[in-house]
Amino acid sequence: MEKHKEILNQCAEILANSKRVLFLTSAGMSADSNIPTFRDKDGYWRNFPPFKEKNLEAQDLASPWAFRNVLPHAWAFYEWRRRNAHENEPHAGYHIINRWMADRLEGAFIHTTNTDGYHLRSGSPPDSVMEVHGSMWRLQCLDVCSHHFWDELSVPLCEMSHETMKAWDYPKCIKCRAIARPHILMFGDGEYVGHPEQERNFLSFLQQPIDLAILVGSSGAVPTNDYIALHLKDRGGKVININPDPATNSIVGTEHFLPMTSEAAFIALDETAFGANS
Ligand SMILES: [Zn+2]
Repeated sequence: MEKHKEILNQCAEILANSKRVLFLTSAGMSADSNIPTFRDKDGYWRNFPPFKEKNLEAQDLASPWAFRNVLPHAWAFYEWRRRNAHENEPHAGYHIINRWMADRLEGAFIHTTNTDGYHLRSGSPPDSVMEVHGSMWRLQCLDVCSHHFWDELSVPLCEMSHETMKAWDYPKCIKCRAIARPHILMFGDGEYVGHPEQERNFLSFLQQPIDLAILVGSSGAVPTNDYIALHLKDRGGKVININPDPATNSIVGTEHFLPMTSEAAFIALDETAFGANS
């Protein structure tokens, strides 16, 4: 516990002395808002018995293959996740990041692998967020009739049965009226059209030196953010890694490792770095 406190104090001091900060958020950030990650196969099968019957794993359904071959299941899976994200809320950690960005930091950017849109929903500045795997709150054409994508915030978006986990009344492409799909980078996906504006904003942020990267809730299974953090560390930046599982520190290997869940860590850092004035 003493050691834990010592690391927290060090991290808070680094944060308080940092001017430009990159937040790298992954599944563990969302998990504290009750967004399921589907890494736990038992939990996944419990939630979706019809998928267990057909042996359809989460990775199978989150794919262009599924939208072409088992469309009712593919859309039901995303519709379920949209409704789940809609019913839950971004936790205190999101709002603390936003407050630091507004009041404490000279420059900051959020690079997230999460697709629940919680950073934008919590009020993060849209020009300072990169959703590298896309967002469930945007759609694109399944046939890629163009590289157009658009916001779609309706809940519910299509009809679905929880018993069969089949959807119907699918959303349509606003250009060609073909079926639309989530604007999300899925598994084995060569058809995701990307978000050029967010990409430009991120590259622009990277043009100036970054004092600190805060890596949050990375699973290690999709280590996109870990490698960005490692790259910054190799160039002399500091990295704080927030994760209850020490094994997740193997890629970035930072000494500033906080073994905590995301929401608790942001609350503790906020109090320790900025105290009552925050
Ligand atoms: Zn189209």
